[in-house]
Amino acid sequence: MPLPPIAFDNSYARELPGFYTAWPPVPAPQPQLLKLNHALAAELGLDAAALASADGLAVLSGQVVPAGAEPLAQAYAGHQFGGFSPQLGDGRALLLGELIDRHGRRRDWAFKGSGRTPYSRGGDGKAAVGPVLREYLMGEAMHALGIPTTRVLAAVATGEPVQRDRVLPGALLNRIAASHIRVGTFQFFAARGRHDDVQRLVAYTLARHDPELQGTEPPALALLRAMAERQAALIAQWMGVGFIHGVMNTDNMTLSGETIDYGPCAFMEQHDPAAVFSSIDHGGRYAYGQQPLIARWNIARLAECLLPLIDPDADRAVAAATAVIDAFPAMYAARWLAVMRAKLGLAGDAPEHDEADRTLAEAWLALLQAQGADHTLAFRALADAVDGAAGVAVGDAVADHAAPSARISGVPATHTLQQLLPEAPAREAWLARWRARLAQQPQAAGGHAAALCRANPLYIPRNHRVEAVLTAAIEHADLSPFDELLAVLQRPFEAQAGHAADAEPAAREQTACYQTFCGT
Ligand code: AMP
Ligand code: MG
Repeated sequence: MPLPPIAFDNSYARELPGFYTAWPPVPAPQPQLLKLNHALAAELGLDAAALASADGLAVLSGQVVPAGAEPLAQAYAGHQFGGFSPQLGDGRALLLGELIDRHGRRRDWAFKGSGRTPYSRGGDGKAAVGPVLREYLMGEAMHALGIPTTRVLAAVATGEPVQRDRVLPGALLNRIAASHIRVGTFQFFAARGRHDDVQRLVAYTLARHDPELQGTEPPALALLRAMAERQAALIAQWMGVGFIHGVMNTDNMTLSGETIDYGPCAFMEQHDPAAVFSSIDHGGRYAYGQQPLIARWNIARLAECLLPLIDPDADRAVAAATAVIDAFPAMYAARWLAVMRAKLGLAGDAPEHDEADRTLAEAWLALLQAQGADHTLAFRALADAVDGAAGVAVGDAVADHAAPSARISGVPATHTLQQLLPEAPAREAWLARWRARLAQQPQAAGGHAAALCRANPLYIPRNHRVEAVLTAAIEHADLSPFDELLAVLQRPFEAQAGHAADAEPAAREQTACYQTFCGT
């Protein structure tokens, strides 16, 4: 089926010559469509049936560059685990082009795993099926949780083996993003003293993401502040759901405020600020609880790139940039409080409640940590604890959600709040404080419990479930477990019959030795 013309409008290619290398994808030898994201295709105004046809697959696999696309590899640098690499760039990715979606938003369409580029250094430019499917699943889960994220339009097996620690089936993905501008993009030009180019990038980024801020204060300062606000909001949302990005290098932090580069990411089970899953994060630099601090550190690296543009007087430039960096903890604290209020069902944002609500939320998290409770299920089980008992187990029927009225939360019968937080005095003392706070506010629409279920997912991509569906896909070429899990994760706030197992944490021994890897 011929692919209808695609209305590419490639502003990056057009407006930023010198920021990239025009470069074609390496065609996949024997492409096979693994997953096509129909909902996302529709959002982009693309014809999903045509994309799934042989002509569509030729485009999704890099065999055919469609009319209007201008594939290019973007230049960027980055701090990786604190050390600066002046030259990274798209080593296994390409920007194919940009589209305006059905809502009038500009979106990048990019490949990952489309072969070597001038920025590949020693790498092969390829990706493997497992990590490509993992990025698909994680991105869709984050999107359904309401968290800004890049998303996968299509995952394609290339028919070519890739060499990692062993030989793996190769794949590439088609990624959709609000843009691919990273902190590291600014660093690339700043490190070379190309301040005019940094200025052009500032103007481009502001026009793309904050058009209303053009022509106000020094544009670089406006951009820095907008970026800090977006990252504060994003990281607060990550913290709410227990997401650990795993590799928050400056090249993996976007100016758009979207989550990008799902490499060694994972969701935390037991609440623990020190939780780390990435095999290479030995020092815990990117541990769960470190993420707000690292975001601030990365924003400081962006600020350094912008100094000459903020004020010609170096002292004044530093003072203005420092003011933004110093304001970040308060920006983040406000966003975090808003996330926690929603998750605890606390209505209103009256400043006179801030201190008490913050203390209540911190005490709750301290309780989860002290008793080793599952982050996701503990929040969810609060829906059962609104009126009295901390959720009474009523037998196996509940485990299968057959009697959701018994516990509105749908948490498995083995994970009531009493079981998640077995030390009763501390639990009941906190619950009493929380109920007293709830009693001071009007009932939410449909009641407190329903509001809590709308704010706290029952399902997150559990590491052991993700591994199981990827194993089925890779070892047995069976994508049906993947599809089933994906369907559950697309409705994370609704208890779904027959899916109790997807809500359950892994055995502790399993989580204790779970490791994630970078190699998409
Ligand atoms: P990451 O840490 O995955 O965000 O990647 C960091 C840098 O390494 C980027 O410049 C990537 O393009 C590059 N890179 C990672 N894997 C490969 C690969 N297989 N081939 C070429 N470049 C790669
Ligand atoms: Mg990256």
